[in-house]
Amino acid sequence: MSGPLLKIDDLSCRFGGLWANREVTFQVERGGIVGLIGPNGAGKSTLFSMVAGAQRPTAGRLTFDGRDVTGWAAHEAARAGVGRTFQLMRVFGSMTVLENLTTAAFVRRPRPRDARRYARQVADVAGLGPVVDLPAASLTAAWKKRLEMGRALATEPKLLLLDEVLSGLTPTEAREAVEIVRDVNRTGVTILMVEHVMEVIMPLCDQLVVLHYGQKISEGPPEHVANDPAVVEAYLGR
Ligand code: ADP
Ligand code: MG
Repeated sequence: MSGPLLKIDDLSCRFGGLWANREVTFQVERGGIVGLIGPNGAGKSTLFSMVAGAQRPTAGRLTFDGRDVTGWAAHEAARAGVGRTFQLMRVFGSMTVLENLTTAAFVRRPRPRDARRYARQVADVAGLGPVVDLPAASLTAAWKKRLEMGRALATEPKLLLLDEVLSGLTPTEAREAVEIVRDVNRTGVTILMVEHVMEVIMPLCDQLVVLHYGQKISEGPPEHVANDPAVVEAYLGR
């Protein structure tokens, strides 16, 4: 299929008197890595929720893989190929890493042997090899983030939504995580990621979209966005 994988047109989400997103428009090309940035409260997670079917838009249109999917449900999004991580981690603590991955792999692979085999494959791509047999609860924050990414990956998404998977990591951990994101992208998964740390995502993303108070204030290649006066103002003027 041709055309962008994800198309967001004039998408808005209102909570009472607050517009968490207001007429946001952009698209994500197939095979790309797009960064969604903006100060706290800008509406990044809300936008993810609408794309992933966890939040119904107040207005606007969402097109995924050439299909109008505005207002779809989370299970429909998952089945269609939208995988997401959560800013607050939702791994099953008492299960091992491999069991967590296997559970996620069941979304597309109902046969247990098949799901387990695929989970091992994902563990390799996500750099989880050394910890596959440990209970998830025993992992450090950095490993948990990898597991969160692995779980999303195990559902075999076309589009992977990563919500702040790099935040709170040491510089070394962040560099490793960036390499994993690159590896995942090379396997053909399109990526839309929310991140705070500009220096980390600038070299990773082909496009950036900047939200501020729910509205898009800039977009384009990272160098362009970083030098956009509106972006500098939004970050410095807080
Ligand atoms: P970001 O992820 O960019 O920090 P969010 O999308 O989490 O921003 O939030 C955007 C705004 O919407 C914030 O002001 C937040 O308090 C508000 N908000 C988010 N979710 C809800 C909700 N379920 N109900 C009411 N307000 C919400
Ligand atoms: Mg957020």
